[in-house]
Amino acid sequence: MLPTFDPRDTEAGSRILEDITSNAGHIQEQVLEEILTKNASTDYLKSFLNGHSDKGLFKNKVPVVDYEDIKIYIDRIALDGEPSRILTNESITELMISSGTSGGKQKWIPKTAEEGEPGPSFFVSLLLFELRCLHGLNDGKALFFVLINPDIHTPGGLVLRTTTASEIKNRKDRYPEVILCEDTNQSLYSQLLCGLVQRDAIVSIGTFFASGLQRIIKFFEEHWQEMSSNIRTGQMSDWITDPKCKRTVSLILSKQMPDLADSIDLVCQEKSWEGIIKKIWPRTKYVQAIITGSMAQYIPALEFYTGRLPVVSPAYVSSEACFGVNFKPLCNPYDVSYTFIPNMAYYEFIPIGNHQDPNCTNSKDAHLKDHIVDLANVKIGQHYELLVTTCTGLYRYRMGDILLVTGFHNITPQFKFVQRRNVVLSIDTDKTTEQDLQNAVTIAMHILEPLGFFLLDYSSYADTSSIPGHYVLFWELQLRSNNDIPELDQVKMEKCCSLVEQSLDQKYKLLRNQSISTIGPLEIRVVKQGTFNVLMDFYVSRGTSLNQYKTPKNIKSEKAIEILDSRVVGKFYSREVPNQDS
Ligand code: AMP
Repeated sequence: MLPTFDPRDTEAGSRILEDITSNAGHIQEQVLEEILTKNASTDYLKSFLNGHSDKGLFKNKVPVVDYEDIKIYIDRIALDGEPSRILTNESITELMISSGTSGGKQKWIPKTAEEGEPGPSFFVSLLLFELRCLHGLNDGKALFFVLINPDIHTPGGLVLRTTTASEIKNRKDRYPEVILCEDTNQSLYSQLLCGLVQRDAIVSIGTFFASGLQRIIKFFEEHWQEMSSNIRTGQMSDWITDPKCKRTVSLILSKQMPDLADSIDLVCQEKSWEGIIKKIWPRTKYVQAIITGSMAQYIPALEFYTGRLPVVSPAYVSSEACFGVNFKPLCNPYDVSYTFIPNMAYYEFIPIGNHQDPNCTNSKDAHLKDHIVDLANVKIGQHYELLVTTCTGLYRYRMGDILLVTGFHNITPQFKFVQRRNVVLSIDTDKTTEQDLQNAVTIAMHILEPLGFFLLDYSSYADTSSIPGHYVLFWELQLRSNNDIPELDQVKMEKCCSLVEQSLDQKYKLLRNQSISTIGPLEIRVVKQGTFNVLMDFYVSRGTSLNQYKTPKNIKSEKAIEILDSRVVGKFYSREVPNQDS
C-alpha cells in the first residue's frame, strides 16, 4: 500500500507528498482497517472485539492503555517465549528499547518483520526528499554521528536493541562500517577523526537529538589534541582496537598531514569555543538534530557552538512509530511543527482541557473515550495527547507526548511537540510540568546571560527530606568567553532562584505564600563542568542508548542525585516569596 520512490526524484517526492497530505483521513481509515483485519484474531483484540474487525467496535470497546497495561503481554512474549499472536499476527522479530529516560523507565516495543521494511523506509525517503531542498548539499558530505550499543537477548529469545541499532544492523550494507562498532568511545573517536580528515568536504553535521550533539562536542574537547596528533603522524591511537574502526579510519588517514593538524590546533586552542563547528567544518550549511520539546533547552548551547548555523529538527519519531516530518527545515527552532504522515500508523488524540495540567487525562476515566478524536478531526490551537495503533501490537497506546495543532499541510494536521505528559515536580498539590520548568529556567537565565553565561544542561528533583519540601534545580553553567570554571555572584544566583519561582504557576505561588507554606524556597545547585556528561554515562551504563538519551528533567534515581550532588560547586536559595498577583 505504501508508495516507493527515489528521494532524489523531486517531482515524484512532491507528488507523493501532495497525495498523502490531501487524503490523510481516507488513508488513516485504510490503515486502521488493515491493522484490524490482520490482527482481529490476536488474543489481545479478541478479548475486546470477539474476533470482529469493525472500526466502530474498535473505538467503542478497545481501551486506551499505558505501557504498564500491556507490559504483561510483552513480557509473556519477551520473557516466556510465548508466540507473537498474543498481540499481533505479524511475527515479532525484535524488541525496540525506548530510551524511557524522560519518563524514568525503559520500555520494550515490539517490531515485526513486515513492518520493518516499507514503513520506516518510506518515512526516511520523505525525510531525505525534504532535506534535499536545502541548498548546497549535493557537492559535499554529511557528517552524521551514530552510536550503537551491543544487543541484549531476552530469556524468550528475542533481540533487544534500539531502533537505530535495528535499522543499522538489518541494513549493514547501507552504512559505513565504523558505526557498527559497539564500543561508543572507539566509535565516536573514529567518526570524529574521519570528519576532521575530511574537514573540507563536510557540508552538514548532525545526530539524532540535540543533547547528543552537545555530548559529541564535549568529547571532542577532551580528545582534539590526540586526534590532531593522529592526523599529524598518520597513525591512529593504539587504544582504537576495533577492526571496523581501524579499517574505516585507515582508508581515510593514510599519510601524515601536518598542515591539517596545525590548522585544527589553531582553531581548538582558541580560548573560547564559540562557533567551533563552523570553524572546524567551514563549509557546513546547517546542523541536524531534534531540538523541540525538552531538547529546546539546548538551543542556546547549539547556537554558541555552531556559530548560529541553522539547526534543522527533521522529524518526530519514536520506538513505537514514525510520526511526523518537518517540512520547513530551515524555520526558527522554536517554530518547528511536524506534519503527520498518515500511512505510518493509526493516530488518535485525547484533547487536553488545560494543557498546564496534562495529567488530568486519566486513562481510567470512563468518559475519556468519548472525547478522543482522529487525525482528520483535530482542531488548530488545541493541545492533545497522542495515541497510536500499529500493526506491531500496540492498540490505542498512550505515547505520553503532548502536542499542539499549529496548522495544516493540505488537509493533514501539523503539530508542535509541547512536552511529555508526566509532571516533573510536585511537593504538595502543585504540578509543575516539563514545559513550565523550561519556561521558568529560560526566564531566569536572562539574569546570567549578560554576564556571558549560558546553561549547558539542567535537571531537578523535589527534595522532601526536610519539611517543607522544596524544588531543587541542578544547573551546569558555561562561560562564552572561555572554559574556566565560572565564578558565581551570590546575589544574582539568588535572583535566579526567585525568578524561577516567580515564573511558575499560580498554584505553586499560592502554596509558597500560605502562612504555613507547604513548599520551601527553591534551590539552585550549580554543578561543575562535565557533570551532565557523567550523568549521561550513568544512564548509558544502565542500558540507555547515547543516540536516544534525553536528560531526565526530574531525577528519581538516588544514585543519579548522588552523582549530581557530589559535583555541586554552589548552592543558592530564593530569598523572596513569589508574588501571587503576577
Ligand atoms: P525513543 O522511543 O527512545 O526514541 O523516544 C521517543 C520519544 O522521544 C518520543 O515519545 C518523544 O517524547 C521524544 N521525541 C521524539 N521526537 C521528538 C521531537 N521531534 N521533538 C521532541 N521530542 C521528541
